[in-house]
Amino acid sequence: MAISPAEILGLPKPAWVSDDVAMVYDTAHRFLSAEIAPRYEEFEKAECFDRESWLKAGEAGLLCASMPEEYGGSGGTFAHESAIIEAIGHVGVEGFGIPPHNSIVAPYILAYGSEEQKRKWLPAMARGELIGAIAMTEPGAGSDLQGVKTRAERDGNQYRINGSKTFITNGQLANLVIVVTKTDPSQGAKGVSLIVVETDEVDGFRRGRNLDKIGLKSNDTSELFFEDMRVPTANLLGSEEGQGFVQLMQQLPQERLQIGTAAIAMIERALGLTIDYVKERKAFGKAILEFQNTQFKLAELKTEATVGRVFYNDCVARHISGGLDPATASMAKYWLTDLQGKVVDECLQLHGGYGYMNEYPIARMYRDARVQRIYGGTNEIMKLLIARSL
Ligand SMILES: Cc1cc2nc3c(=O)[nH]c(=O)nc-3n(C[C@H](O)[C@H](O)[C@H](O)COP(=O)(O)OP(=O)(O)OC[C@H]3O[C@@H](n4cnc5c(N)ncnc54)[C@H](O)[C@@H]3O)c2cc1C
Repeated sequence: MAISPAEILGLPKPAWVSDDVAMVYDTAHRFLSAEIAPRYEEFEKAECFDRESWLKAGEAGLLCASMPEEYGGSGGTFAHESAIIEAIGHVGVEGFGIPPHNSIVAPYILAYGSEEQKRKWLPAMARGELIGAIAMTEPGAGSDLQGVKTRAERDGNQYRINGSKTFITNGQLANLVIVVTKTDPSQGAKGVSLIVVETDEVDGFRRGRNLDKIGLKSNDTSELFFEDMRVPTANLLGSEEGQGFVQLMQQLPQERLQIGTAAIAMIERALGLTIDYVKERKAFGKAILEFQNTQFKLAELKTEATVGRVFYNDCVARHISGGLDPATASMAKYWLTDLQGKVVDECLQLHGGYGYMNEYPIARMYRDARVQRIYGGTNEIMKLLIARSL
């Protein structure tokens, strides 16, 4: 049986970890350890996962865990998604792009999709046949989302879409992409609409480079190009155009919280591995752990990790009862990812030269952690959002 997230820090199990959430964590941990971890180096080298892993994850019940059963999901809540993301972090296979698929893309379809859209897309996403991505960022518009230029013009019962996106997670594999477009550029935020593109079925869709990143190598992050791409108007999310910005604002708290999930999971793994390492490694005739500096550093990190986990647990409990406000979700994203960077850096230091060697997991964690402070809205943007609540 896998260790439950809370056990790593010796905390009592929070109320949101019900028996079935613990079971999902266990299933995910076992599946990822048996099926994904042994092939992870291969995916890191290929800079992409394969479709087979997605189909297997679907069979194991790890996709669309929080979607209703009638749409092929497992009928869970964000607590179940958290269990899966935590298992990904604890096993150390962060490049598997399940979190945006499950906790961002599918929820948009559930929240704003028509009955027909939900029946068409969600079951295929739950099986791993459709892989989801969300395409907001453009070469000229990242933090300032209102600056998107991708244009969707109505032409009969189709949209003609022109523009480009960059840094899109799952961008090489995704075949269901929610594209942030301008349907009316004269309307500012009110002219933004979300349109679902089934990439296997459209002309004018092109994938650009699989971008060369410093970390999260096994996750494909891409450019996407739309050149007179024709998409049925029936693929608009929401009952009318112009709702995109509000839809994004409503969903962003969950996107931010799940980045916090990945952060706390990596913090716990880094601490666990480092405590084991300093007990084994010897210098000056004793274990590194016996030096007071090591003890103080790890005491500080364990304290901060505990504060982070308790705050995280509170955010999840609030989110599943519908009470997580955007400012607190931004706090979780900003504070937990900053802490992740600090913990991983200090843990690497305690590994000495071995920490800089790729054969030690802490080295990869150091590279993988960095982006957490950037995507999902940079930590500076999080502070702007928090400041609005002052
Ligand atoms: C690996 C990876 C995966 C990603 N996945 C996705 C994805 O799946 N879908 C997607 O749409 N996007 C994705 N992104 C894009 C990501 O969300 C953006 O990179 C991020 O929002 C920042 O935008 P930018 O890169 O244009 O930076 P900029 O907006 O140019 O920011 C540059 C710097 O200026 C700061 N800054 C900007 N505005 C302000 C301000 N008002 N006040 C103070 N400081 C400010 C920023 O904090 C940052 O430090 C991904 C990025 C990466 C690296």
